[in-house]
Amino acid sequence: MRTWNWTLTAALLGSSFLGITGAAAQQADGTQPAAQSPAPDATQTAQPSQPAATTATQTAQAAAASAPSSSPSTTSVPASSASAGTAPVAPAPMAAPTTMDQVVNLFIEREHGLIKALSNRTPVVETYLQNLTSDPQLGPVPSEDHYFLGRLDMGETVDRKDYLKEEEKGMQTRLLGGLQKLYKVQYQPMGFSWMVYADRTDFDREHYNFSYIRREFLGEVRCLVFDVKPKPKSGRGRFLGRIWVEDQDFNIVRLNGTYYPAPRNTYFFHMDSWRLNLIPGYWVPAFIYSEEGDFSAGVKNKLAFKAQTRIWGYDLKKGDKDDELTQIRVDAVKDESPAAQDASPLQAEREWQQQAEDNVVERLTRAGLLAPEGDLDHILQTVVNNLEVTNNIDLPRPVRTRVLLTSPLETFSVGNTIVISRGLVDVLPDEASLAAVLSHELAHIVLGHNLGSKYAFNDRMLFSDEGTYQNLGFKHIPEEEQAADKKAVDLLKNSPYAQKLDNVGLFLKALQQRAPALGALLTTHLGNPLAEGGQVNRLQALESQGPALDMNKLDQIAALPLGGRVKINPWDDKAEMVKASPVAITSARDKMPFEVTPFYPRLARYGAGATNATPTTASNSNSGN
Ligand SMILES: [Zn+2]
Repeated sequence: MRTWNWTLTAALLGSSFLGITGAAAQQADGTQPAAQSPAPDATQTAQPSQPAATTATQTAQAAAASAPSSSPSTTSVPASSASAGTAPVAPAPMAAPTTMDQVVNLFIEREHGLIKALSNRTPVVETYLQNLTSDPQLGPVPSEDHYFLGRLDMGETVDRKDYLKEEEKGMQTRLLGGLQKLYKVQYQPMGFSWMVYADRTDFDREHYNFSYIRREFLGEVRCLVFDVKPKPKSGRGRFLGRIWVEDQDFNIVRLNGTYYPAPRNTYFFHMDSWRLNLIPGYWVPAFIYSEEGDFSAGVKNKLAFKAQTRIWGYDLKKGDKDDELTQIRVDAVKDESPAAQDASPLQAEREWQQQAEDNVVERLTRAGLLAPEGDLDHILQTVVNNLEVTNNIDLPRPVRTRVLLTSPLETFSVGNTIVISRGLVDVLPDEASLAAVLSHELAHIVLGHNLGSKYAFNDRMLFSDEGTYQNLGFKHIPEEEQAADKKAVDLLKNSPYAQKLDNVGLFLKALQQRAPALGALLTTHLGNPLAEGGQVNRLQALESQGPALDMNKLDQIAALPLGGRVKINPWDDKAEMVKASPVAITSARDKMPFEVTPFYPRLARYGAGATNATPTTASNSNSGN
């Protein structure tokens, strides 16, 4: 049986695919936050804030939980040593609650603490939405899509600035979860962003009733589950639903529900909002899934959509107005030529191109659009290297790869750096398809189609983060695109992937099938599109390769849903491979190529990654076939 896993073809690589990703994940979990926060003060003891036992069952549960709670995650950090631009200071230890009433007080207090701690942050927020139509065979399938990307100002009002063309805003930004006027469907990106908090201003006992339901584990984290209902006459747009509160520090880790009651002509989405413990003491909003629609018989309202909202870049420098005029630091290009030699004209040209490349990579990283160099890049570079070695390509500088953090399917290259979007890595079914999309950019490099050299002038890097898409661009002319595609096919046919090009053909067919409905996912913002006007134009020579696309063949996986491969750390933007066990496909509806699915992150406490990674990795390596 086929499963969603690159391990199928990982044998092509000398080193084990899973070995690379497993180690990477462990390291990222274990070391990322430590680099940001100062060492815990030894004089401050770990916080013993488990709920004091009030009943016999609670005693037993508390005892069971005592082992993991000895992790340093709750150690408080002295305020003085938390330097600017790093994580907020962990809250001071609080007295252990003895009643559920006290627990409610604690999580209300922690929620206000979180709102305050994040109030000077402006993370990147992306919402990708697919409208759905009902297909008799496949169930709900995308009919059209929408894409929003912006910076979320988590200050007083929770406002946002867009990277894309200015959406019509004005008063609408004040409508929470607003889907303005049902008959004229218009999605407000602000509506999705709002769902990071239950209630920005009035999350308290005056406005809400809280009732304890039960205990429940989310991933490795034991939670107390509460239903939350707005009190009568407490105002419009109040949160109605359920919250999960972790039982050590009493932070909310998940919210599921909607807002109620809605103002006239406004409609609130349902949402499932998840937080991650990425810094000591706080759980920061990371993923929001929204879904509306009912395709059961007799239902009149056929408005239906699924949407994923992702938030990252919490640790980016706050992009205030002055920032636009701040000179950026460009790392000096290391001079590796022998001493006492002047640069030849060709060397000077290459140095110039590298300077442009470095400028662009640095600027995109600073804008929160590019993941820092990491372990996922090693996997991508291994694939590029396979293409290079088998084609005897010897470039003056090694090819580097980086991951664009956004969902739209796109690749581009600047100098010797190949950039591929997270969304594209997500949907590629196998390593050969990954090699195919990378080979197109490698071909541009080999053919010398360098178009970034104007960015060696530093004045061209001085723009606001939101202006990135207006100020940077790496689109080739059609002639270069065709030449790169032709070269790419040659490279692939000489490579270890030559026998797997049927899979590439299948991927392109699946892309062609969905392209007319997925205009937003296929709209690139920096590079050339894979498809334009509903027509795939990348690597067309390979599209006829392989068998016909057949959704009913369960062993034919032509493309994957979004979100299946790459995991982004919303605090520091590091990208790593998802460690999900493969799940068997039991019907054509399970395939969901290029589709949006709910989020279900495996929650773990800050600093617990190193110990917890082991069982997941083991199960992965057992299930790779
Ligand atoms: Zn191209």
